[in-house]
Amino acid sequence: MNFNIITIFPTIFNTFKETGFIKRAITNKILSMNVINLRDFSINKHNKVDDKSYGGGPGMVMQFEPIYNAIVSIKKKSRIIFPSPQGETINQKKMSELSNLKDITLLCGRYEGVDQRVIDDLIDEEISVGDYVVSGGEIPSMLIIEGVTRLLPGAVDDENSIKLDSYQNHLLDYPHYTRPETIDNKKVPSILLEGNHEEISRWRRKQALGATWLKKPELLKNVKLSKEDDKLLEEYKEEYKRQNHEQNN
Ligand code: SAH
Repeated sequence: MNFNIITIFPTIFNTFKETGFIKRAITNKILSMNVINLRDFSINKHNKVDDKSYGGGPGMVMQFEPIYNAIVSIKKKSRIIFPSPQGETINQKKMSELSNLKDITLLCGRYEGVDQRVIDDLIDEEISVGDYVVSGGEIPSMLIIEGVTRLLPGAVDDENSIKLDSYQNHLLDYPHYTRPETIDNKKVPSILLEGNHEEISRWRRKQALGATWLKKPELLKNVKLSKEDDKLLEEYKEEYKRQNHEQNN
């Protein structure tokens, strides 16, 4: 899968490309990243790509022409995405959809954003990373690249771990523990130390159901629970109530 990234700050992607599983995915040819410096397509001798806003008011606006030329330079069929707070908010389902594409172009806005005609004529969709505003599309783009890349076959060491991630099954992940066994008085749940794999699976499923019920109950509306799941969740609720009761008394 290839990402083209159109940005006025190409160097921000250097360490991103050279770190961790993204680097590995590039080395293993699962992923490629083509960072395009928008200033190379400036139509101004000072390499400017922005100008004042018609109608006045604060802030600069990124111009149509350099963006148009940068997109034309790609020459391949690519889904053109504009990260923008006005887009639909990305979620795990959308990450999965994007992971099926071969080529995605991310247009990183800065300043007040881009000339409206870019949005109307040049892009396929706007995608938001949440209902807040950051100063540029670079970090939202990295977020999208990271979320999509971990879904590409072979990108993450143990693909089973992806299947268990939060949201992937409409449930949150279960809690994880590693050494040491005891920190102050806090012990790792004994079931995880006893080596009974069936019991461990049951405990983890219960914790995943319980965490979802506690922290993101709305997710449970979209998932069909088995009889066993219902039972586990009831057990979790009982244990939770008992514990809270003990703590309050
Ligand atoms: N004036 C614009 C925001 C400009 S912020 C507005 O209110 O809609 C500058 C750039 O940062 C945007 O063009 C976009 O590319 C990026 N950006 C900011 N917040 C974002 C978000 N929540 N999701 C995705 N991209 C965002």
